[in-house]
Amino acid sequence: MQRLGRAWQTAGVRVGLVPTMGYLHAGHLSLVQRARRLVGRGGKVVVSIYVNPTQFGPNEDFSRYPRDLRRDARLCRAEGVDVIFAPDDRQMYPRGEGADFSTFVIEEALGRGMEGQSRPTHFRGVTTVVAKLFNIVQPEWAVFGAKDYQQAAIVKRMVRDLNFPLKIVVAPILREADGLAMSSRNKYLVGDLRAQALVLWRALEKARAAVHKATRPLPAGRLKAELKRFIERAPAARLDYVEFFDAETLAPVSRVVRGTQMALAVFVGKTRLIDNARM
Ligand code: AMP
Repeated sequence: MQRLGRAWQTAGVRVGLVPTMGYLHAGHLSLVQRARRLVGRGGKVVVSIYVNPTQFGPNEDFSRYPRDLRRDARLCRAEGVDVIFAPDDRQMYPRGEGADFSTFVIEEALGRGMEGQSRPTHFRGVTTVVAKLFNIVQPEWAVFGAKDYQQAAIVKRMVRDLNFPLKIVVAPILREADGLAMSSRNKYLVGDLRAQALVLWRALEKARAAVHKATRPLPAGRLKAELKRFIERAPAARLDYVEFFDAETLAPVSRVVRGTQMALAVFVGKTRLIDNARM
């Protein structure tokens, strides 16, 4: 892959990368379409498919994360993807005879709260694997989804801080018709859990309505407490966190106004779902 990336770069071919963990859905494919528009018909779109072990915690769903490379390949082909890069763990994280993989990339500010607090080693895994993918593919563009809002902000910061020679584009969240954000993990939502999973979207809508109706800034603490009660009325739902923060700096705010960003993580049964929106 790196040899190919270098050859493209030398030949002046524009390259766009879409990093994913596979089990692709329409949200991923919207990123592929965005990458195609960025590089043009003569450019190359690379989709990486890799369930990265270092971004999962010990009690998370790494081993049961859904995988279906054949189906993913079919979807990529139909979307006009040029190359699927699907490395294995031994290639990405070499081991053996005192030569285990031992270098990590750590962003130290934006990754502290929210996902970083709930999943302490998560972003270290993300930044490390994304840095590796950038060095391997050497794209001019990389496209990420706003579904993982904090992740996109951290990747942008890493690119700036470490002078990666590429541009990051963040594409909007694709949702099911009823509002549920598309996610590979939605596969876990069997039976009535699928209906209960709508509480994330409903909480975002409820908060947005409150902010738009209000004539003055709303205290974040009170809004968070109301949203927790609202979410946990769904019997299988347990709030992990809800946060209101500045869309650029990710700094939590105490007063919520139009334009404030909201993000939340909710366990629906055993499945942890995340979502976010601008108020
Ligand atoms: P994942 O395979 O979950 O790691 O996601 C790969 C990329 O797709 C990330 O940049 C995600 O933010 C993005 N993505 C996932 N779900 C959606 C969605 N519903 N809409 C837009 N982008 C998404």
